[in-house]
Amino acid sequence: MNSGNEPTNSAPATAGPDTTNSAVAPEATAATLITNIAGLVTNDPPLGDGSPLGLIRDAAVVIEGDRVVWIGESSKAPATDNRVDVGGRAVIPGFVDSHSHLVFAGDRTAEFNARMSGRPYEAGGIRTTVAATRAATDAELEANLTRYLREALRQGTTTFETKSGYGLTVEDEARALRVAARHTDEVTYLGAHVVPAEHADDPAAYVALVTGEMLDACAPHARWIDVFCEEGAFDGDQARAILTAGKARGLHPRVHANQLSYGPGVRLAVELDAASADHCTHLTDEDVDALAHSATVATLLPGAEFSTRARWPDARRLLDAGATVALSTDCNPGSSFTSSMPFCVALAVRDMGMTPDEAVWSATAGGAAALRRTDVGRLTPGARADLVVLDAPSHVHLAYRPGVPLVTRVWRAGVPVVG
Ligand SMILES: [Zn+2]
Repeated sequence: MNSGNEPTNSAPATAGPDTTNSAVAPEATAATLITNIAGLVTNDPPLGDGSPLGLIRDAAVVIEGDRVVWIGESSKAPATDNRVDVGGRAVIPGFVDSHSHLVFAGDRTAEFNARMSGRPYEAGGIRTTVAATRAATDAELEANLTRYLREALRQGTTTFETKSGYGLTVEDEARALRVAARHTDEVTYLGAHVVPAEHADDPAAYVALVTGEMLDACAPHARWIDVFCEEGAFDGDQARAILTAGKARGLHPRVHANQLSYGPGVRLAVELDAASADHCTHLTDEDVDALAHSATVATLLPGAEFSTRARWPDARRLLDAGATVALSTDCNPGSSFTSSMPFCVALAVRDMGMTPDEAVWSATAGGAAALRRTDVGRLTPGARADLVVLDAPSHVHLAYRPGVPLVTRVWRAGVPVVG
């Protein structure tokens, strides 16, 4: 690392961290050269060294408006009006967090404390959050969402998906999606999170609601539909009915699959061409094979296993079989209350058999694949100008220096939002 070089910035004054990742209109359209990058991750193999990360040493990037317009070795960079020297640091694409649950109120500190202290805890899990969310105002929900998005942005997340699922009434699900849609295009209808207490005696009636009136109210505000396919939540037949109804309304499936036990979720996801099967902790050989021969991404959420002391998903097995793997936070107040993609990268390397290169790819390009996006998760001409500068000479430090706040600067859609 070129020690001692503080980043300099001749660009206009930076904007404060805002949390919107849809259609940001940059103020300046003049080109900016970002240079003196020790190691640049492009996720475009031919653009770089041929590896999956497409690494370029001594690199530079030119951004204009909200796009990347040039990438290469710094010695070949074109002249621009603005110039930012990052002082020999590493630059990666902004993280793509393709799985979070951020529209909620309250927290579950007591539940976590009991679990980690080996004490029984009887209160209602997801239903605790449902009660708090229903009782919150729209403004409270939005303030909470904004807070966690700012937190994620400071850690380098420039694209995120988020879900409903703590309303579980027609009105409360629709308003969760309306709130989320003000901050991201990647909004997921998860009316089928759990069967709410008031329908516990008649789950079929709740499935009818989720596929009927609730779907009608929610479909205009969402891109995706999701189901928690698990014992105690929704079985394979219910999940198929819900996802199929969503597809008929133009929502594309993603599935909470095989988290707590073996089950039909992964194979249903593949059958319905879901963009992603999420969790994938308990997989048979047939499940792994199905994922490897499909366009469905296996999204692994190690924050959940960390926070519940559960068995880790086996990323190595999926990668060796040829499946596409994404990493995501699953940020939610019950089972994974982290918004940190760098933390997930470190866990995946330490405990799930991923190499540092694989984990960084899965947290950027992998997340983009799980959202079927090609404009984010990579740094190539034409891609959205989402860049993260690490206070380190290499992306490997994300796993090598766990828990250290390495993200020093972030551009999202060409706008400096951190640092
Ligand atoms: Zn989840």
